[in-house]
Amino acid sequence: MSLKERDKKHIWHPLTQHKLHPEAIAITKAKDCTLTDEDGNTYIDAIASWYTCMYGHCNQDIVNKVSEQMNRLDQVVFSGFTHEPAVQLSEALIAILPENQNKIFFSDNGSTSVEIGIKMALQYHFNTGEKRHTLIAFEDGFHGDTFGAMSVSGLSVYNGPFEDFFLDVKRIPTPNGHNHDIILKQLEDITANHKVAGFVYEPLVQGAAAMKMHDANGLELILKFCKSNQIITVADEVMTGFGKTGRYFASDYMETKPDVICLSKALTAGLLPMAITSCSQNIYDAFYSDEIGKGLFHAHTYSANPIACTAALAGIELLTSDKIQDDIKRIITSHQAFDNHIKTHPKVASTRQTGIIFALDLQIEMERYGNLRDKLFNFFMQNGVCLRPLGNTIYILAPYVISEKELDTVYRVIEGVLDIL
Ligand SMILES: *Cc1c(COP(=O)(O)O)cnc(C)c1O
Repeated sequence: MSLKERDKKHIWHPLTQHKLHPEAIAITKAKDCTLTDEDGNTYIDAIASWYTCMYGHCNQDIVNKVSEQMNRLDQVVFSGFTHEPAVQLSEALIAILPENQNKIFFSDNGSTSVEIGIKMALQYHFNTGEKRHTLIAFEDGFHGDTFGAMSVSGLSVYNGPFEDFFLDVKRIPTPNGHNHDIILKQLEDITANHKVAGFVYEPLVQGAAAMKMHDANGLELILKFCKSNQIITVADEVMTGFGKTGRYFASDYMETKPDVICLSKALTAGLLPMAITSCSQNIYDAFYSDEIGKGLFHAHTYSANPIACTAALAGIELLTSDKIQDDIKRIITSHQAFDNHIKTHPKVASTRQTGIIFALDLQIEMERYGNLRDKLFNFFMQNGVCLRPLGNTIYILAPYVISEKELDTVYRVIEGVLDIL
């Protein structure tokens, strides 16, 4: 029996309505940018397996370091103990994170990194003697699937059963260059009527909202407003982190640095699940006390797993190398050329790009939306390219090591799909 058939028997897949999508594609191996399925078909991984394996699948350099670490120290409790991979990783991260970041808190997925960011914001105020319980977030944001993360996510189409249990969150629109006054007015109204603890946001690019991009000057104004009202700013860089915007972090484009930053996805280069919530010294100081209860009482069993830390360290070494920085510049230039070529196509409504993230919206009538996603996805896969369209948006977020030839194939397949619509 094929893996595809055996899978159906016991496995419940994430984000899947099994009645509508009964089959999963069984992948047996991956190398660099290529996925191979159980029938021997190959696919270019143009979304880097959900923005994780940015240095290519089974990157030999990372695999070697991780397997060495596996033979030395596999796992140890991180409460009361420490180890070299965690210490080295904290040093490497602080060296590349925005300059105000000074402390590293470990967990194991993007949602929990946000959950911890929310706890830091709420407890910061609690510890400093002023209870604040409202959070601000963008409409259309996505921050994960645990309760705090769901609460601040605006994309709640599928969260109906849980909405009654959400935290108190007020939403503001993303800045588009024309709505700054409206947003600032809204922020003033919210802060006049509620005690606001924090602002949770995806800086510059909202991944799950189909790579929606917003205005940096507008975000700057929002962050300045938050700073002057002691609202803790929590940048969710789970998707944008580690080079995708063309800088190490999207927050590098901002003058006002966030108090807290959430990281995961590309953090471990696609090898192992791990997440980090970093923060400024100021946040940390509010928890540093003779009172035990003022500490951050949050832990996950696998916090700072040594093997995951080693993968992350190897990833950062690659990210900061001339080779990968050149690859990033090369992809940015390729995307710009493709953009110039495709943006006038009659089936293309609009295009946008930030760093190596490129997205295009299709010009298509609403009534044809129904099975559009499946139609696009199937076409891409049949043509050897793994892309996961969102609504009427097609986006590319490929590993930095994708070759020019592979990129051309991705572009040609996207152009090809426009002809069948
Ligand atoms: C993926 C993602 C998350 C959630 O991360 P998980 O590891 O899937 O829990 C949170 N925020 C953003 C911006 C993401 O892209």
